[in-house]
Amino acid sequence: MGFLSTTAIKWNGTFCVFILVLMYIRHTLIPNDEQKLEYRNKIARLKGFEDAFELVKSAISITFKMHRAGLSLILQVMPNNLGAYHILGSNVIVVNRYVLYVIKNLSKSTEEYNSYLFMVLAHEYLHSFGIMDENVVRQMTYNLCMSLLGESHAATLMAKEDPSSLFPQLKMLPQSKFEREYEIVKDFDKKNQSYIS
Ligand SMILES: [Zn+2]
Repeated sequence: MGFLSTTAIKWNGTFCVFILVLMYIRHTLIPNDEQKLEYRNKIARLKGFEDAFELVKSAISITFKMHRAGLSLILQVMPNNLGAYHILGSNVIVVNRYVLYVIKNLSKSTEEYNSYLFMVLAHEYLHSFGIMDENVVRQMTYNLCMSLLGESHAATLMAKEDPSSLFPQLKMLPQSKFEREYEIVKDFDKKNQSYIS
């Protein structure tokens, strides 16, 4: 009897430690509702590409412990089924300026447009770590938006399907082509560049 109760106490102790560890992991890794609200507010208040990319980098650093420096952003008109792409092995992210323009006009709020910007930059930033598998990157982008912003957020909805789930008009656009002209966004990854130099 004495032996049994000692074992039971030991097991109870182990179980309590296990529960405490789980609670600690949940507390530190999974954002609570307050932190989610904070992220949603940050998205709503983003001011341009540089700001959006700073948030993407910190979100991916917190969620996946991944960080890299010195990326450039190029805006170019491309076929409208292509939101953006990353040139493999390079430090360049190219975003479709036409789709960006259309989404800006279709968005009911700055928050919706910013959500697209956050989602698309997060997707291409993840590719820039050498992750080539489209399904893996899509799943990671979805997990990121889901954990930081919640299931019903515009960025999560677009990451789950694609931007046309929020903006069905995108499917009815006249087909665009790659244009020769492009724009390099100044100071896109400024903080890292000054850090390197
Ligand atoms: Zn991709």
